[in-house]
Amino acid sequence: KFIAFEGGEGTGKSTQARLLSDHIEKNGKQCVLTREPGGTVGAEAIRALLLDPPGSGWGARAEALLFAAARSDHVEKLINPALTEGKWVICDRYLDSSRAYQGGAGSVGDEAVLTLHEIGSKGLRPDLTLLVTVPADLINQRLTARDAGQSDAIGGRNAAYHQAVADTFIKLAKREPENFVLIDGVGSVDQVSMRILQAVTDRFGA
Ligand code: C5P
Repeated sequence: KFIAFEGGEGTGKSTQARLLSDHIEKNGKQCVLTREPGGTVGAEAIRALLLDPPGSGWGARAEALLFAAARSDHVEKLINPALTEGKWVICDRYLDSSRAYQGGAGSVGDEAVLTLHEIGSKGLRPDLTLLVTVPADLINQRLTARDAGQSDAIGGRNAAYHQAVADTFIKLAKREPENFVLIDGVGSVDQVSMRILQAVTDRFGA
């Protein structure tokens, strides 16, 4: 089974991805926990280029190509082999981040992002995408506490960009209810984790 966690910065998805992976392993199944951009040597090298861009930074189109290239390496070398071996794979961000950030907020467009994904990763989709949502004002509080106000590892993005990311995620989830489950990210780590376990059990059985 392939599960992706999606959401904006500060929604708590990385913590929740780790907790779900621990839970699955405790139940005796093998689970690979990985992240995007990254997850393989090549994709981590692309991550470094994305987070610390040379020169004046990337345009949204170049960004979309770099994310697609990183994902291609990640799918080919880590995700597909793990799935073939019958392991569970949990990925902290995947295709829908590209659709929300580069496609929606960056105006590259959904069709172009999906085309790049088709070329790069043969269109591989998760079996379940958990979209963790938290209202913008709470996100701002969390990020101020976390990174001294640094809202995004990629610089040059404003509040409107992040609002467009959140809006695009919701739009995609409404358009594709068969792929997405919305998870309310407000509350304690344990409360959110219980909601996620429920969603996973509902989808795949106990
Ligand atoms: O999930 P994490 O916060 O580690 O993501 C790293 C950075 O990459 C974040 O700044 C996020 O905004 C950015 N990102 C992006 N487009 C994607 C995926 C991640 O801009 N498709």
